[in-house]
Amino acid sequence: MTQRETKAVLGTTHWWHRAQQVMPGGVNSPSRSFYGVGGGVPPIMVRGAGAWIEDADGRRYVDYQAAYGPLVLGHAHPAVVAAVARQAAQGTVLGATHPLEVEWAQRIQAAIPGMRWVRMVSTGTEAVMSALRLARAATGRPVVVKFAGLYHGHSDGMLVKAGSGAATVGAGTSDGVTQAVQDEVVVLPYNDSSAVACCLDQRGSQVAAILVEPVVGNSGTLLPHPGYLAELRRLADRVGALLIFDEVITAFRFRWGAVEQEAEVEPDLYCLGKIIGGGLAAGAYGGRADLKALLAPDGRVYQAGTHAGNPLAAAAGLATLSVLEETNPYPRMAELAGVLEAGLRDQAWHQGVRVTINRKGGMFTLFFTEGPVHDADGASAASAPQFHAFYHHLLAHGIYLAPSALECWFVSAVHTVQDIEATLEATAGALAAAAAVTV
Ligand SMILES: *Cc1c(COP(=O)(O)O)cnc(C)c1O
Repeated sequence: MTQRETKAVLGTTHWWHRAQQVMPGGVNSPSRSFYGVGGGVPPIMVRGAGAWIEDADGRRYVDYQAAYGPLVLGHAHPAVVAAVARQAAQGTVLGATHPLEVEWAQRIQAAIPGMRWVRMVSTGTEAVMSALRLARAATGRPVVVKFAGLYHGHSDGMLVKAGSGAATVGAGTSDGVTQAVQDEVVVLPYNDSSAVACCLDQRGSQVAAILVEPVVGNSGTLLPHPGYLAELRRLADRVGALLIFDEVITAFRFRWGAVEQEAEVEPDLYCLGKIIGGGLAAGAYGGRADLKALLAPDGRVYQAGTHAGNPLAAAAGLATLSVLEETNPYPRMAELAGVLEAGLRDQAWHQGVRVTINRKGGMFTLFFTEGPVHDADGASAASAPQFHAFYHHLLAHGIYLAPSALECWFVSAVHTVQDIEATLEATAGALAAAAAVTV
């Protein structure tokens, strides 16, 4: 069979059919379905190279989904591939502490000085889940304050009014999360510190932690109001609760280190993931020095993992961090994303489509609403039919976004000016398609 025939036989339609037979909804993560774009067959992706991704029908796309965030260096970056191959030949998991994981943790610590210690895990979900367990142990209190529409992985308590994929498929609070768990989670609007003050006045003595994405990537992009994070710090201190920054999306995305370093607000604990794994599964948490001794084996807060600190993930993560530190791609990522933003605004204006674009550095979201968009309610006020039309036009014209209005575009270090120009050619038609939708 020639390659062309293979493609024709085993294309997206073939694999999507088989995927649906064996995997719930045809996906291993609900946000990959086309639930959030009004349906359709999601392309089955077979390979990626740099800023491009290719589906099972041989169609190529400029990729802004970036696997939901890890691919700051694009797909199959040579330094990452070489590091992973080198380590794979020496063992993929060793079940003991390994030099690369020590270097990895130290590199992260050097970039984020507030992490006085680092514990590696395998996902962002685990990082948050473990940090919350630690916060509850440290304070002896049960309640966690979090914010509507933010996403902190899929541990039970974090699926109370979660954003991102959970909100997209209408499962903001998942079935199967017990009332007892829900009672220990307070969900407040983002960017409203008076709501936090009010909650703490009533329940402050029960609150173990305030958990927040300092810059949000899971209700689309939301930016904190000036002073908001400092106010959360002050309020947490007032009642003796910990402040936890979930930087799974934001760390190493806008700068070398955490976005917290710009806000000049130091949390008690940080949660990391995505970019630090360089495209392999990884997460991490860490923070205040005195909390270190509470963790097993020294302390009595238990958390473990067969693949925690996995050598392959360490190799990929270290290689990625090295490239980021040596090349500082951040100004260029911001500049290219700025060109996209300006182009999109201009095109939307010419088409008479009302949009709000929230952007930080290389990360942004275009909302089909007049805005402004500061919280989950603002994000969900955007027009779904317009986004669906926009999305499918882009997909048909070789531009791949995450299939949800509540996700971000990620401009990576390897997108080129040509990629941006090609994208803007496609978005002109996509915005015209959105304009044609009656809202
Ligand atoms: C992606 C994400 C998570 C969950 O990470 P997984 O590796 O998917 O478990 C947690 N918090 C934030 C802010 C995220 O963006």
